Amino acid sequence: MTLELPIYMDNNATTQMDPRVLDAMLPYFTKVYGNAASRTHRYGWEAEAAVEDAREVLAQFLGAESGKEIVFTSGATESNNLALKGAAEYYKSKGNHIITTVIEHKAVLDSCKRLEKEGFEVTYLPVDPQGRVNPEDVRAAITDKTILVSVMLANNEVGTIQPIKEIGKITREKGVLFHVDAVQGVGKTPFNVQEMNVDLASVTAHKIYGPKGVGLLYVRRKRPRVRLAAQMDGGGHERGNRSGTLNVSSIVGFARAAEIMMAEGAEENIRLISLRERLHRSISERLEEVVLNGHPEHRLSGNLNLSFSFVEGEGLMMAIKDVAVSSGSACTSASLEPSYVLRSMGLDDELAHSSIRFGLGRFNTEEEVDFVADLMVDKVQRLRDMSPLFEMYKSGIDLKSIEWAGH
Ligand SMILES: *Cc1c(COP(=O)(O)O)cnc(C)c1O
Repeated sequence: MTLELPIYMDNNATTQMDPRVLDAMLPYFTKVYGNAASRTHRYGWEAEAAVEDAREVLAQFLGAESGKEIVFTSGATESNNLALKGAAEYYKSKGNHIITTVIEHKAVLDSCKRLEKEGFEVTYLPVDPQGRVNPEDVRAAITDKTILVSVMLANNEVGTIQPIKEIGKITREKGVLFHVDAVQGVGKTPFNVQEMNVDLASVTAHKIYGPKGVGLLYVRRKRPRVRLAAQMDGGGHERGNRSGTLNVSSIVGFARAAEIMMAEGAEENIRLISLRERLHRSISERLEEVVLNGHPEHRLSGNLNLSFSFVEGEGLMMAIKDVAVSSGSACTSASLEPSYVLRSMGLDDELAHSSIRFGLGRFNTEEEVDFVADLMVDKVQRLRDMSPLFEMYKSGIDLKSIEWAGH
């Protein structure tokens, strides 16, 4: 079999839609095309029934008590905005302090920046060199002004999984709301809003083999009841939390994607871990000075983030055009700034620039992994052969001890 190039290994950025999801969606474009808010005819009722079924499936996916706790959105960027700004606005008479981490997705960080401009105070917790937050840092940061803590389930760049259950215990004990950006981890690592005391959770369909442009925000209804100030005004859809005609076909696809995850996720993760380990082993057995970024165990099944010392990031990306990967995050790769996630884990700029994120997913094969491993070894060796720094390193010169001219 010949491989189709470039090989897609960017599943932390988005996933190919599962054909079974497309099958589930198709009738909702041309047959059941009613507006789910239309109460006067069958077209509307059928669309509404499909949405309500999807709500129940997605509630089950998250361990929520009820489909009433699901607010549909256009994706996790909107969900994160609604969670942070909506809670901040609603609870501002209780306090003006929010706690988050330095490695969150930009949708969380930039929402926090906006809130800071409006007078809120935000604490950005650090992470350890593997990208993990210490729950005790969360506890120590909570004051009587704190209204919300926001920590992601798993990081999109390095795949590190956070101690959500431990943090949820603390926020519940302190009576502070807990939001989790669960986009990368849900279906891939245990996540349950009841067991983990999560009050708000963001999810998007396109990272779990569903369609792009649909997401949800879980909003707890009991113990405690969470309230939000709507950020979108209009027809009062989604119990007043998010106005706008529902994207019925995509919502149906989102639920189908979650169903498949619930049925097959556990097995799929075992397969992805084995593919990931095969890729890692095959590269690091043949190349020296390859650094794993992120946590060796608390890590998403499909994520492998490696830094290749003595090669220059841009040159490397040009050399490996036959594989679709990211250097740093997809959201920041347009700029030449080294990834803020890698930097906050203590990586120097050189290593951050030479990092590659391999995101393995449902449709990757062993054959593709072997091809990519060979490609990486070949290209990195070639680039290093041209690198004077690598030559110095090979001849035993301690590069850190050198006084560079101009520095
Ligand atoms: C992709 C992603 C988002 C944004 O989701 P969209 O649906 O693309 O807006 C938010 N958080 C994390 C961790 C992500 O990986």
